[in-house]
Amino acid sequence: MNKNLEVIDKIDEVFKDAKEILESAKNLNELEDNFRSFTGKKGRLTEILHNISSYSPEEKKIVGAKSNEAKNEIESIYNRKKNELSGNENKKFLNEYKIDLTIPGNRIERFHKHPITAVLEEASDFFTSMGFEIVEGPEIETTHYNFDALNIPADHPARDVWDTFYLLNGLVPRTHTSSVQARTLESKPLPFRVIAPGRCYRYEAVDATHLFMFNQMEGLFVAHNVKLSDLKGILEETVRHLLGAKKTRFRPAFYPFVEPGLDLDIECVFCGGRGCGVCKNTGWIEVIPCGMVHPNVFKYAGINPKEYKGFAFGMGFDRIVMLKYNINDLRLLYQGNLDILNQF
Ligand SMILES: [Zn+2]
Repeated sequence: MNKNLEVIDKIDEVFKDAKEILESAKNLNELEDNFRSFTGKKGRLTEILHNISSYSPEEKKIVGAKSNEAKNEIESIYNRKKNELSGNENKKFLNEYKIDLTIPGNRIERFHKHPITAVLEEASDFFTSMGFEIVEGPEIETTHYNFDALNIPADHPARDVWDTFYLLNGLVPRTHTSSVQARTLESKPLPFRVIAPGRCYRYEAVDATHLFMFNQMEGLFVAHNVKLSDLKGILEETVRHLLGAKKTRFRPAFYPFVEPGLDLDIECVFCGGRGCGVCKNTGWIEVIPCGMVHPNVFKYAGINPKEYKGFAFGMGFDRIVMLKYNINDLRLLYQGNLDILNQF
């Protein structure tokens, strides 16, 4: 038998096999592998032709034509089968992963501000509406601004009132935002009215009303003719606005950086003045320590106390939030417990 015919028979045989095998492929991967096993570099059809260079030109012509024909046929079977299988696979996918566009989406939880932030912003808005500016100071402070410049020299017994953390480098985490008062008096052109909200730190045993960290809002109003009646008017309006206080009273108190010093009390919001555990049966709750700026504080800042007057106050902010929302344990505000915080 002519070598030529032998090869042509082989090509026919390969084509028959290829047709059968490709037709029976069950998925795209299998089809792809089978296709390559015939037409790939080491495929059966390619192998048959590997010594075609030894054929005569006429033999080459016949064998070449035959093999091209077989290759084209195999390719068209492959393409048809591929379309069929990928159609099946798409259908299978769509059946398995049916999407129902009518199902309502997952609810996105709506969040809100932490109660302390919310009240802090409310108070800031209130004061800025009265012409106060917001100022800031460092939380790690020198003893000069935290004490000395506020008329609390090193040997002053009042230093014991503030249970201070002392850092190894001699600085202190500020015990009150009053340190911002001292800094502002030194640097800001007069007259001015400012508030300074911020965190403060004291060495205190943690209980329901005390933490080692707390929020305060300092206020300072300095001008030529500021009077005690200005202090009273503004702070009474503040507690009316923030806490809905109806009755207020001022009591004398001692703070080294004010003279006279006062405490602003509001009628107990829990018992309406009848007396309860929160107000220790007095019917009153202390909310804002305040007073007229002490002449010495002006002198430390290089301001003539005969020329300028001012009043200052320092609100314990956490306390305001507790009163506003009727919370009896300060720790609840700082534990990050969403069950609690989501109630606001
Ligand atoms: Zn009460």
